[in-house]
Formats: sequence, structure tokens, C-alpha cells
Amino acid sequence: MKSKTMITVLVEDHGTKPKLGTEHGLAIWIEAGDHHVLFDTGQTDLLLTNAMALGVDLTQTDAIVLSHGHYDHTGGLAAVLDMAPQARVFMHPEATEPKFSLKDSGTHSVGMPEQARQALKGRRVTWTATPAIVCPGISVTGQVPRSNPWENVGSNFYLDQSCSRPDTLPDDQSLWIETEQGISVVLGCAHAGVLNTLRYVAGLTGTQTFHTVVGGMHLLHALPERIRQTEATLKTYHLHCLAPGHCTGEYVMEQWSQIFNACYSPCFAGAKITL
Ligand SMILES: [Zn+2]
Ligand SMILES: [Zn+2]
Repeated sequence: MKSKTMITVLVEDHGTKPKLGTEHGLAIWIEAGDHHVLFDTGQTDLLLTNAMALGVDLTQTDAIVLSHGHYDHTGGLAAVLDMAPQARVFMHPEATEPKFSLKDSGTHSVGMPEQARQALKGRRVTWTATPAIVCPGISVTGQVPRSNPWENVGSNFYLDQSCSRPDTLPDDQSLWIETEQGISVVLGCAHAGVLNTLRYVAGLTGTQTFHTVVGGMHLLHALPERIRQTEATLKTYHLHCLAPGHCTGEYVMEQWSQIFNACYSPCFAGAKITL
């Protein structure tokens, strides 16, 4: 029998286990047979201590996939590359662009920290504008077509400090994992839209259902109609496990924990999902 694929959430905004720290960020560890993939690196070096507490050996990392260039997904990159210099990094070419967020409090730089940019120098990087195989059974989407134009990036993101050039986050990408149970999808922030992402993976793989969908869905500022539409379409995929976290939004997570009931699984630091 083939060994199971295990997903462990290393870093997330929420946590229930006293030994694990939390921060606004995401890092997910995937073990598929002999292959070890780190999807995102959180905001700081927190993933190192959380990984140790969870018995995850980051020196075994074969591949690091960055979902996009935001600081809360790339902040731990330098620390992980120090531990696992052999790891191949998969990222979209535009992930390293300067990135800004406009809020009531002003403009904030939200791109990849300089330390992470420096750490990429001389590394094995696969630039994923298009889909790529990360390891047997695990692939990355590369840039996701925006077939639902109403699935916007979810916040006021720009490429310049004066906020004149909107950032459409072309670098946003997700993973899909193929197991005997079906196709599962791991999302970073899903700035491309969770439905756009699932539709794209469905088209690439020929699947009409998904086993597990886990990660950030960036619906925290979404209008009710978008949330309703997302909910309705998610139902058509007959999910076995829905585990939204990070930037999905507290309101949406609370609602969906009831609506999706048995298949809902909270996504917090230390959560494990078996595929
Ligand atoms: Zn983001
Ligand atoms: Zn995020």
C-alpha cells in the first residue's frame, strides 16, 4: 500500500497548543512518502521553533513553495534555507516585486523581506509562471487565470508606495496533491480567488471533486455575495475536508464550521490532516 500524505500546519494565525507560537502568517509541511515539501514560511523564524515542537525536521526539506511574495508567507525563507540549503524553491517571477498595502493607517510595505530576497541568491529556484511538478504527486499551479473577475485580490494592494499601480498578485499560486483519495489543494492566501484556483486545478487534472482544501482564502473583506457564491460552489466539489485558515476571516470560518459541519476542519498551528 502507498504511504499516506500528511499535512501539518506549522505556522498560522491561530493555535490551541501551548507549546506552539502563532503569528499572522502561514507555513504548511507536507510529507509524501520520502518527499518533504514546505509550503510558505510564515512571517518570522517562528516556523523553526514550531517545527521542532511538532517533531518536523526542516533539514529534510526537498522543496519550498512560496504561494506569493507577501511578507507573512516569505518571512521565514532565509532561516529555512540556512537549515536546508539543498531545497529547491518554487516561486512565481513576480513574487520578488515590491508590494504595498493601503489601509486606513497608511501605506505599508508588505512584500518579501530583504533578508529573504538575499537568501535566494545562488539558490536552486524554479520560476513558476506556469504549472510545475514539485515532486511525485505534488504540483504547483503557477499563475492562476482569473476566470471569475469578481474574485478580486481581497484588499488594496499596490506595486508602488504612492499606490498608483494596483497589484493583481499574478504571483499567487497554490499546490495540488494527488493521492488515491483524490485531488487536494493547499492555498496560501488565494489572492487569485479560491474558486478560480479550484477551477484551474480541476481543468488541469480533469477532476470534478476535491478531497481536501486547506489554507488561506482571503475572504476577510469579501462582500456577502462573494462569500455566498464561494460557499455554493465549494459544495459542488463534494469536499471530504475543508480547512480554511489564515486570512479567510473569522466570520467566514465561524459560518462555514456550521454549514460544512462534518467536513470542516480548523486550520491552526499544529493541525494535521491525512490525505
Ligand atoms: Zn497575501
Ligand atoms: Zn497571507
